[in-house]
Amino acid sequence: MTKIVKCPTCGKEVKWVTASTWRPFCSERCRLIDLGEWASESHRIEGDETLPAESIDPYKDNHH
Ligand SMILES: [Zn+2]
Repeated sequence: MTKIVKCPTCGKEVKWVTASTWRPFCSERCRLIDLGEWASESHRIEGDETLPAESIDPYKDNHH
C-alpha cells in the first residue's frame, strides 16, 4: 500500500514514496509556488505554464 497525498498547490495526487522528491508537492514547481506565497510578493512565479511538470524526473537527483 502506498500512501497518497494531495499536492497543496494544485491538488494533484502524489505518492508518498522516496521517489517523490517534492512531496507533499507533486513537483519542484508546485513547491516553489507554495514557498513564493509567503517568501516574497516580488518573487512569485507567474506565467510559467510552458514548463512541463510531468517531465521532471524525480529520480534524476537521487542516483548520482
Ligand atoms: Zn502540484
